[in-house]
Amino acid sequence: MSAVPDVAIVGGGIVGAACALECKRAGLSVEVYEQSTVGGGATASGMGHVVVMDDSEAQFALTHYSSTLWRELAAELPAAAEYLPCGTLWVAADEEEMAEVHRKQSFYEARGVPVEVLDAQQLADAEPHLRTPLAGGLLVSGDCVVYPPVVAQWLLDQAGVTIHHQEIRALADVPAGIVVNAMGAAAPRLSPGIPVAPRKGHLVITDRHPGFVRHQLIELGYLKSAHSASGDSVAFNVQPRKTGQILIGSSRQYGAEHKEIDREILTRMLRRAAEYMPGIGALTAIRTWTGFRASTPDKLPLIGPWAGREWLATGHEGLGITTSLATGRLLADLITGRTPPIPAEPFLPLRCSP
Ligand SMILES: Cc1cc2nc3c(=O)[nH]c(=O)nc-3n(C[C@H](O)[C@H](O)[C@H](O)COP(=O)(O)OP(=O)(O)OC[C@H]3O[C@@H](n4cnc5c(N)ncnc54)[C@H](O)[C@@H]3O)c2cc1C
Repeated sequence: MSAVPDVAIVGGGIVGAACALECKRAGLSVEVYEQSTVGGGATASGMGHVVVMDDSEAQFALTHYSSTLWRELAAELPAAAEYLPCGTLWVAADEEEMAEVHRKQSFYEARGVPVEVLDAQQLADAEPHLRTPLAGGLLVSGDCVVYPPVVAQWLLDQAGVTIHHQEIRALADVPAGIVVNAMGAAAPRLSPGIPVAPRKGHLVITDRHPGFVRHQLIELGYLKSAHSASGDSVAFNVQPRKTGQILIGSSRQYGAEHKEIDREILTRMLRRAAEYMPGIGALTAIRTWTGFRASTPDKLPLIGPWAGREWLATGHEGLGITTSLATGRLLADLITGRTPPIPAEPFLPLRCSP
């Protein structure tokens, strides 16, 4: 290995870790800079839901390809990665949301993703703790759940790269052919001017209640929350953990820069959860925390060259766990000139340059 590595990755979250592994597999020499604990940023504060999404063709391509990589990886992951192939159940409260169920069904089926439409009774059978009546739902059985910080460390262990525990303040401080900014929501600090803004979220985890929730459950109104370009929003979004715990989300806030718990939004979020699952309020919550998603104006991540030797792998908003593996693959392909498995153009950062 030369004294100066081909690639230095700043940020040891799940995105940086996946990039490190894929670059290493592509034959590049790689080093990682992490100011704190590997996987201790948004990677530790997210939900760990691996989900195929359909907001745009580009988002579908990235989430679908990455989900395939997660399924391929599942057998290799350590038990502590808590891989749980529970599927996603999109919950429809009324007939308007059932129309969305059928639209999603057509979209996914046309692209080879197995889905199943549930009527009101099938939904109640699948998730007995949901309120009744609800209109029905859409089961996407290939989706899964993981524990992201463990996966981030495992990916770096597989890569076998040097990790410098150091805060990087300037690109000039990093000796490497290419420097990849994978700092998540903090990325603009190293790359001023990139269109990434922090979007705060709250989560609550309960004590162990095995079987209370069986699938990742998301209200279809979640899409309104995730799409809102400004303002605060909450949505019913709960997850079964392999430990039997239940992770309750989710909230989205722009302009909130401090990590303190916001009691008002937390109360709204828990009320929303109880509207869908009346028994959830009786469970014991053991921890509440916040985290910051790295959002971009067009809701797609920034993957690829930016300026000179500066590259980006950030802007994954609420899908960075899902899309980390595909991000690593795309980045390594772009660096080495290989043809990526899906088109890279929609994610190239230069789409955002003035
Ligand atoms: C509440 C919430 C729920 C979420 N739920 C999901 C979900 O269910 N599914 C999903 O796919 N995604 C989810 N996400 C999004 C997901 O967590 C993120 O997209 C993902 O973790 C981003 O990973 P990352 O590696 O880019 O960033 P991070 O994990 O934030 O990693 C960046 C790293 O860079 C380091 N760093 C920062 N500055 C410097 C510096 N100057 N020098 C050196 N190191 C530095 C940090 O310490 C950190 O470790 C959620 C996010 C939140 C907040």
